[in-house]
Amino acid sequence: MTPQRFADLWRTLAPIGHGESGYHRYAWSPPELACRDWFAEQAGARGMPVETDRNGNLWAWLGDPAAGDAVVTGSHFDSVPGGGGYDGPLGVVSAFLALDLLAERGLAPARPVGVAAFAEEEGSRFGIACLGSRLMCGTLAPDRAAALRDPDGVWLAEASGLDPAGLGPDPDRLAGIGAFVELHVEQGRALDRPVGVASAIWPHGRWRLEFTGQGNHAGTTRMADRRDPMLTFAYTVLAANKEARLRGAHATIGRISAAPNATNAIAERVTGWLDARAADQSTLDGLVEAVSVRAAERAGRDGTTVTVTPESVSPATGFDAGLRDRLATLLGAPVLPTGAGHDAGVLAARVPTAMLFVRNPTGVSHAPGEYATDDDCAAGVTALADVLAELACR
Ligand SMILES: [Zn+2]
Repeated sequence: MTPQRFADLWRTLAPIGHGESGYHRYAWSPPELACRDWFAEQAGARGMPVETDRNGNLWAWLGDPAAGDAVVTGSHFDSVPGGGGYDGPLGVVSAFLALDLLAERGLAPARPVGVAAFAEEEGSRFGIACLGSRLMCGTLAPDRAAALRDPDGVWLAEASGLDPAGLGPDPDRLAGIGAFVELHVEQGRALDRPVGVASAIWPHGRWRLEFTGQGNHAGTTRMADRRDPMLTFAYTVLAANKEARLRGAHATIGRISAAPNATNAIAERVTGWLDARAADQSTLDGLVEAVSVRAAERAGRDGTTVTVTPESVSPATGFDAGLRDRLATLLGAPVLPTGAGHDAGVLAARVPTAMLFVRNPTGVSHAPGEYATDDDCAAGVTALADVLAELACR
């Protein structure tokens, strides 16, 4: 694959949902729907029928998926607020281009090959990451999904047009997949060459932290009389950072809401979301426990209360060892872990799954500066084509 060819197709998708502050492609928002249209166009141009499954995931097929033992590749279109363009879409664009390379090499797949785009991977609209793949794999209860609303109060079914009664496990679809490979931009600075193979995903999760105090007048309430949850919150942000550093783990509070959110009022309530990740489960458990304990101690001093509620927690995911080693050998690529969650991590529990990473020269992700060079992206396409040739064409 030449860098120019990659860039030519990339350019057809890149403007969608792009603004001054990065990408805003929330699940089933107009930009994400435009990405879905793009998917249908690309599939149509390659003679691949497209279907949307009961959980809103998109599939395009080369060969009849009913034949079973399919090799599927793909990723997602949705972004975090103000995200980058590569996280997700790179895997979908690369999938179509890799199929082009296979055809040019004169290789006809002996197994059905699918391209997938999963719904709401980032959880930016409904709060649960990997929503589409989790529902498909049965690791998210359908009634919980059906009860989800976005920040504007729009129900999941309303936003997606899906039948709420149809949400949930899709065992037949999973049974037809023999292998899943997701190509994704690497999200740190862990690669010193264009392409790598994933070993594992760190256990990670999101916890909602509710701090409650007493709303009051900012001008008349004596400092000594305040029960200000913002103080408990602020302390907890610092404590989370420190506890993560002590463990070589990651903790982030990047989202907050305050009520009443007024300049001249002491907050009555502050909600923060803790994103925590660690190399192993006991370290992650210890981290969240330590943050909870320190928040509670501080709440005692501030006259406030704090509750910690898990929203979505994913255990460590080790990718299929045989597949991982086979691909690493095939590509001569290094094997590396990641702290980022992916649909591949969800599917790994049900089907043999692997991931390819494309180098990220800046290490920036989930921010507008996220980037990969056309050269590296083209190398990623070639690697994915090699993988599809290995898995599906022999
Ligand atoms: Zn992603």
